[in-house]
Amino acid sequence: MDTAGASDLHLIDTHCHLTFPPLCDDLDGVLARCAADDVEQVVVPAYDPASWAAVAALDDASRVRVRAAYGLHPWAADQPLDLDALAARLADARAVAVGEIGLDGKIERPTLAEQIPVLERQLALAHDLDRPVILHVRGAFSELLDLLDRFTPRLRGVVHAWSRPVDLARRFLDLGLMLGIGGAVTRPRASGVRGTVAAVPLECLVLETDAPSIGLDGVDPAACEPRHVRTVAGAIAGLRGDPLAHVAARTTGNAARLFGI
Ligand SMILES: [Zn+2]
Repeated sequence: MDTAGASDLHLIDTHCHLTFPPLCDDLDGVLARCAADDVEQVVVPAYDPASWAAVAALDDASRVRVRAAYGLHPWAADQPLDLDALAARLADARAVAVGEIGLDGKIERPTLAEQIPVLERQLALAHDLDRPVILHVRGAFSELLDLLDRFTPRLRGVVHAWSRPVDLARRFLDLGLMLGIGGAVTRPRASGVRGTVAAVPLECLVLETDAPSIGLDGVDPAACEPRHVRTVAGAIAGLRGDPLAHVAARTTGNAARLFGI
């Protein structure tokens, strides 16, 4: 349970796939529960051109603003990327970032060699349009760092679903990127992310759930909803020894600054 009095936290879930089932099957309920747990904004990254339209079609709820990110995910890097179409999506009022994009060295296809030029073109677009990026990375950290190094410091963004040790985290922070902290931080054995969260400045962290892809300690991915960023914030507060309200205010401020929301 939360600390008494820690209501009205104005939380932001910076990474949630509201267009995926089961969330999309009960959007009104999901967003009502968000509002009840002080989650006031949700950033929804698209995945490929087919999902751009689905994300664009999402509506705000009465007390929850739904924001959009558009990009071509590394798992979809074998699909054609029309940069003009992507730029047109990014021009709509709901769009706050290019994402989710990145590199995944743990899948067979598309290969990293196929993924890298697709990411590079999207980083260049984000850089030119001065939009932040939402990054997915597994098993290709040095390749990603090399690419980012060419576009920072102007390029801003977040490495989402951070799970790795603090020394690797610091290499991204040195480039001016932020870390997206999600449900993994609630797991007692997740030493990488827990050590990172305890050691880095709070100014580098934003909250996310990645629902319904990642669960929390005791919460299955399919049951995970954006309202659970409150649990994530609580876990960060516990690890740092900070009050929940402080973690909420700072991480919300970070997300607002990053995405211009
Ligand atoms: Zn995601």
